[in-house]
Amino acid sequence: MPGGGSVKLGGGNPLVVMAGVCAVDADYTRASHEMAKRAGADINRGGAFKPRTSPYDFQGLKEDGLKVLCEAREAVGLPVVSEILDVRDIDLFMKYDVDILQTGTRNAQNFELLIEVGKTLKPVLYKRGFSNSIDESLKAANYIMEQGNENLIFCLRGVKGIGHSFRNQGDLDEIVSLAQTIDRPIVYDVSHSTGRKSGVARVGGMAAAGGADGLLVDVHVSPQHALVDGFQAIDSEEELRRMIDTWRGLRELGQALH
Ligand code: PEP
Ligand code: MN
Repeated sequence: MPGGGSVKLGGGNPLVVMAGVCAVDADYTRASHEMAKRAGADINRGGAFKPRTSPYDFQGLKEDGLKVLCEAREAVGLPVVSEILDVRDIDLFMKYDVDILQTGTRNAQNFELLIEVGKTLKPVLYKRGFSNSIDESLKAANYIMEQGNENLIFCLRGVKGIGHSFRNQGDLDEIVSLAQTIDRPIVYDVSHSTGRKSGVARVGGMAAAGGADGLLVDVHVSPQHALVDGFQAIDSEEELRRMIDTWRGLRELGQALH
């Protein structure tokens, strides 16, 4: 069962919450991941390599970031998911034994990367391309599974639409369709789809009720110090706990709509 460590993702299992910093930083990652765990998260997310639209923006702490992320993992005790951008970094991700490899929306059709990531046989959180149809993304994800890797997790995160008030146009209804057509766990990235802290709770609830097996959420104990995307990070343990508890209940309720 994919999910990293002993976490059970998909099927009749409870909602899995992957929560953590958008970009790993030296000062707040551990505290943020501890907070996420106390609130009920199952997995910590944290980017050491950041795919940025502009080359002048912060690109991630890179190997130092993986080190911080995995040191925090020792303290917190949850598996971690982190994005890999380049085939040349596969050995690094294996060296730090990152539990789940994430491939990002910008690499959704980087077939060479998908092949190499597939070959590791690690669970892979594959994100739909923000300008790709579902069919294109499913075909691309097959490059991972064709390597004998059955641990694919398919992640929706919104797409570039024709006019929407959130960061991306939500693709929530695809959860319902995918659940009927693929045999892999489906995760919804509620932070990158909405891009707004105040959108996370309810859109996460919609995804959970709609059948998502997991949710990806940005959290940070001090969003004003976050290196990337602090504006969309949940910073209150109380709020996060309430969200996670409610989301879990909604997933259960949603199963009656099957
Ligand atoms: C992320 O999860 O940090 C990220 C960059 O996501 P996406 O590839 O969906 O933009
Ligand atoms: Mn981000």
